[in-house]
Formats: sequence, structure tokens, C-alpha cells
Amino acid sequence: MTEKSNHKIVVRMAPSPTGNLHIGTARATLFNYLFAKKNGGKFILRIEDTDKERSKKEFEDNILSGLEWLGLTFDEFFRQSERTEIYVNYVKKMIEEGSAYISKEEPKEEGQRSEVVRFKNPNKKIVFNDLIRGEVSFDTTELGDFVIAKSPEEPLYHLAVVVDDLEMGVTHVLRGEDHISNTPRQILIQEAIEAPRPVYAHLPLILDSERKKLSKRKHGEVVWVDTYKKEGYLPEALLNYFALLGWNPGTDEEIFSLEKLVKAFDISKVHKGGAIFDVKKLRWVNKEHLKLNKEKIEEEIKNKLKDKFRRDIHPKLVEVVFERIEVISDIDKLTDSGELDYFFNTPEVDTLKLAWKNSTTDEAKRNLNDILPILDNFDAIKKLAEERGQGDVLWPLRFALSGRERSPDPFTLIEILGHEESQRRIKNVT
Ligand code: GLU
Repeated sequence: MTEKSNHKIVVRMAPSPTGNLHIGTARATLFNYLFAKKNGGKFILRIEDTDKERSKKEFEDNILSGLEWLGLTFDEFFRQSERTEIYVNYVKKMIEEGSAYISKEEPKEEGQRSEVVRFKNPNKKIVFNDLIRGEVSFDTTELGDFVIAKSPEEPLYHLAVVVDDLEMGVTHVLRGEDHISNTPRQILIQEAIEAPRPVYAHLPLILDSERKKLSKRKHGEVVWVDTYKKEGYLPEALLNYFALLGWNPGTDEEIFSLEKLVKAFDISKVHKGGAIFDVKKLRWVNKEHLKLNKEKIEEEIKNKLKDKFRRDIHPKLVEVVFERIEVISDIDKLTDSGELDYFFNTPEVDTLKLAWKNSTTDEAKRNLNDILPILDNFDAIKKLAEERGQGDVLWPLRFALSGRERSPDPFTLIEILGHEESQRRIKNVT
């Protein structure tokens, strides 16, 4: 073994399966993954399902399939519900050694237990050095003798986390800032069981545009990775965007593959301040990744259009659609809104809108009639437009072909529609 592997970095992501894969969880998983890969370390995934009431198998499945879809693979996998015995041994040992005790409780409600296991708080000041936030200090007195197990057989969250991090040799804990207040409790337990203290890095929260924490309750399904998967975002684009939530490489570069992220990532460049989740930016990042996969995406566009219109699809139309989308689901939006219908069916054209600005309908018709014989000669049409005015010639042409005030340029339209159909549409309005 080399010296490096003796001192291997070990990180873990520890999601609780109490909901679908949240973008905050995915982002923290990514940062753990990047940190591990960058340093030749090990990445553990640990399902924290000690809360039996709130943990559900379907949420675990959703988390695991979401991470797989994103391509965030892990080296080892654990489930806390399968490790109770280990925690129980620690609780018993702590009770024996006096760092925890069974406490008789006065049940406040019916059914409440009359005994719990409490940690014997030494009531001291805890100082730790967070990789992102610098020195953090807490006076633990106010935490009191907090509960670490419902009974010696039913350990709770803080104890399980500390025991697992010890048993799994976790060297670095990278997790959301919402866990910062848990850290002093966990450090106290570590000290009691003589566990080494991992290095902490608390990642900034993901916020909405009003700087409020993103939550399912408040923001709905936009917090789920699944939502983006269903809308046809590319997994590599999501990862790329997640990486930018709280981190940047210190250059202008914004588009990264996972491989490039591993090279560029630097935990010391993660910001302290909250990261604003901006769907517009995400869509832009996705578009950049569509461009990197142009051929594959164009094939998808072609197939979707074929299914919808049951016609051969002109490659130029595929290009037009590619230009207009940022996410795969935009293709359906375009086809369903009828915005592409004029490519397949002769549109109704409102001849009152045929003329450009100050010119007349008669002038527009005259220009169109003069285009008819030179329809295949784009240079000749362009020359005519130079002579008589760009708008005066090209607007009526585009409008006659599409019936729409917004459409691709007339040359693109002629190419897609073909000579005959273009001629027919011009004749229809003149
Ligand atoms: N299980 C905790 C959660 O899902 C994370 C614990 C940790 O990362 O230390 O919020």
C-alpha cells in the first residue's frame, strides 16, 4: 500500500429516505463525489432510515434511481436499519462508562415512554474548523442532556451518525448547512466514544429568488430531481448546474462534464452564502449540453416530429426545432401548441397582414408575383430585396409561406416546404 492509500479520504452521503431525491441532496452528493474522486478517496452512500415512521422504501428507491440516473456512483453502500446492533453496543457501552444514562421521564402524553437514554453533556464550548465556514464555535450548555436513544435498543439519529462515521472511517463530512447545528452534539458524542473528529464542510443552502430555502412544502415538485428527469433535462446538465450552486472554478468557464468537474472542483472555492436556484440558468446550461449532444438530440427531435405529424421530416426543420428548444419537453410544447403545423399543412393567411410597414398589399402581391419565377434562386430573391427593400420583399414572402408574424426566415421555409408547396402558398395569396 502506498502512503496515500493509508491516509485515504473517505466521505459519505447520508440521505434519509423520507422524501424523493431533493436537488439539495443531489447537489451535496455531487460535492461528496467530486471531493472523493479528486482526492482518490472513497465515497460511501448510507441510507439513514432510523426514523421508522417517516422512512419509506419507495423514497429510498427514488433516491437510488435518481443518483444512478445522474451517474453518481458510490463505492460502498449501507443502510442504518441493518446496523442497529452496532449502535446498541455503543449505547450500552456509553451507559456503562457513564457518558450516557437511562433517564426516567414523566410521560406528558398518553403512550409516551417513561424512560429514554440521555447523553451526559459535559457542558463545554466546542470549536471546529469548517472547510467552508472557517472557525465555528458553540456553547453546548444550552443543549442540555439530549436524548440519544429511545431505549438502549432504539438508538436515534445523532448517535447512529457518529457511530457510522467512526466505523466507516469517514474523514470528511460534507453536508448541507442545515446540519451545522447538529455538529456540536455529534462532536460531543464523538469525544465520549473517543472517535476521531472528521473534517467538516457545511455547504450553502439552495435558495429561491427571494432567498428562501427551497422546500417541498413551499415550492412543490421543483425540488425533486425526478421533475427534471421527466421534463427531459440531460443528467449531465443537471450535474453541471448543481456544481455551480455554491461553487465556481474561479474562471468564466461554466460548462463542465462530470469528468471535467472532478478535475476543476476545489472545496476551498465553495462559497459561504446561499446559492440561488435559477431555472433560467439551468435551462441555459441544459441547452449548452444539448449542443454537445447535437446528433443524438436531433434524432430525438426527428422521431418525435415523425410520431406527431406522420410525415417525413426535413433535416432543416429538425434544425429549426433544435434552435428553439432548451429542454426535450420543449419539443412537445412546440408541437402541441400548433406552432409547427404550418410546416405540414397549408396555413390560413390573413392577407391584410401581408404588407410590410408602410407599403401596400398590392405592392406586396407584386413583389410576390415577381418572386415566383425565381423561387429557386435565393441570390436573385436577395438581389430583388436589395433593390426594393428587404422588408418589402422578404416579409410578404415569409408571411405568405407561414401565415405567421414569427417564423424562420423565408429561405429556410422554402427549403423545408419545397418548391411546389412554396409556389402554391404564394399563389394562394396573390
Ligand atoms: N440523514 C441526514 C439527512 O438526510 C444527513 C446526515 C448527515 O449528513 O450527517 O438530512
